[in-house]
Amino acid sequence: MKLVFEKSVPGRHTTMLPACDVEEVALPQALVRETAPALPELSETEVSRHYTELCQHVHGVNCGFYPLGSCTMKYNPRIDEEAANLPGFANVHPLAPAHTVPGCYEALDTARKYLCEITGMDDMTFQPAAGAHGEFTGVLLIKQYHESRGDTKRNKIIVPDSAHGTNPATAAMCGYQIVNIASAPNGCVDLDALKAVLGDDTAGLMLTNPNTVGIFDENILEITRLVHEAGGLCYYDGANLNAVMGVARPGDMGFDCIHLNLHKTFATPHGGGGPGAGAVGCKDFLAPYLPKSATMDGGNGIQVRGFAGNFLVVIKALAYVMTLGKEGIPEASKNAVLNANYLQAKIKGTFTPAFDRICMHEFVLDLSQYKKETGVSALDVAKSLIDYGMHPPTMYFPLIVHEALMLEPTETESKETLDWAADVFRQLYELGFKDPEFMHNAPHNAQISRPDEVRAARTPILRYQKG
Ligand SMILES: *Cc1c(COP(=O)(O)O)cnc(C)c1O
Repeated sequence: MKLVFEKSVPGRHTTMLPACDVEEVALPQALVRETAPALPELSETEVSRHYTELCQHVHGVNCGFYPLGSCTMKYNPRIDEEAANLPGFANVHPLAPAHTVPGCYEALDTARKYLCEITGMDDMTFQPAAGAHGEFTGVLLIKQYHESRGDTKRNKIIVPDSAHGTNPATAAMCGYQIVNIASAPNGCVDLDALKAVLGDDTAGLMLTNPNTVGIFDENILEITRLVHEAGGLCYYDGANLNAVMGVARPGDMGFDCIHLNLHKTFATPHGGGGPGAGAVGCKDFLAPYLPKSATMDGGNGIQVRGFAGNFLVVIKALAYVMTLGKEGIPEASKNAVLNANYLQAKIKGTFTPAFDRICMHEFVLDLSQYKKETGVSALDVAKSLIDYGMHPPTMYFPLIVHEALMLEPTETESKETLDWAADVFRQLYELGFKDPEFMHNAPHNAQISRPDEVRAARTPILRYQKG
């Protein structure tokens, strides 16, 4: 597809500005540019077609299946967008005095109340703008708690090797040393490995449950008990609450502090660089350290962002929780778990699940044996899926599984879609034995085939360079 600059024709234009109705003033010469900006010149139809074509080259949940594991790329009900678009929410200024916008404060309070109920926490801030940002905030709460008690030798955070990469990064950002513990063969926390590293230097443990291989750790109560016994606190990475919302509460599992990605489970899409909300919940004893704007009435909290964070993302989450209600919330989770298990069962027999057992909201395939037999890698399979109009699953994560493909179908997919997806996986499985070369070069029908991912991420060219 041509760039908008390449479509430009000198002199063509779209604008029809009304006559100037104020007095024209000449700008000081020093402020006037010497040459006109090199803007593309196109007609209105051309502009419209250009952007329509561009958006057709993007894959979203509205285009097709998007089983990007750990990201919960589900359908976000449009009614939630509508709620966030209500002028009383959308047009409010963050500096508006509280008494002029009581409805906004009530909405925040209500969202806090519901999300605390869902997570089993006592208080919550919406200030952090992302999951990693929420982790950072949550671990700072833990740090302040220890420091406030003069317990300063606790300088280690324990993180299992199955953890999301943001967990050790967060602990390091907060000035902690990271103690990595190997997972047990079933992908869960190895209790002996945990016991071996716990001590009076343990500040806390960061854990995802269900973990990143989609398995609920049955020893969770014992894990949190052991950490507390050693004087540490338990942090729950609830970025992805899709398997347990309304069914099991981190607060009841013994966690002291959590974050939720409202931009995964609660009606805002993940990714794309759009606004997010890493809501951080905590038990009462940590609440005094929450960011000030969270508690409204002050406190000695930290500040991680301006005002109440991405307010409209919270409104979407509130609308989502209110429309689904007490029945709908657990039903969504149960269907997410059912869909993941259904798809895992249908794919089994071709590609191999890394852990052959009932999963939660997602599962991981291990293609290492398949790669040995065919030469076709997890990357080749992921790239091949693009030609079928399916977004690739998460690849090469978690690190404890080699040649990993991680699928999270979510509750908003139909049985027909899951059957189709399983069929596509079966076709690709067979193709790998017949024509591996074809798969090494996939995708064949996409705009871009195999970009240099490191260069694309590190030195992206985001501006048109003339000539
Ligand atoms: C997505 C995710 C995060 C990070 O969330 P961001 O909003 O991308 O920073 C952290 N932990 C887990 C388990 C996740 O799935």
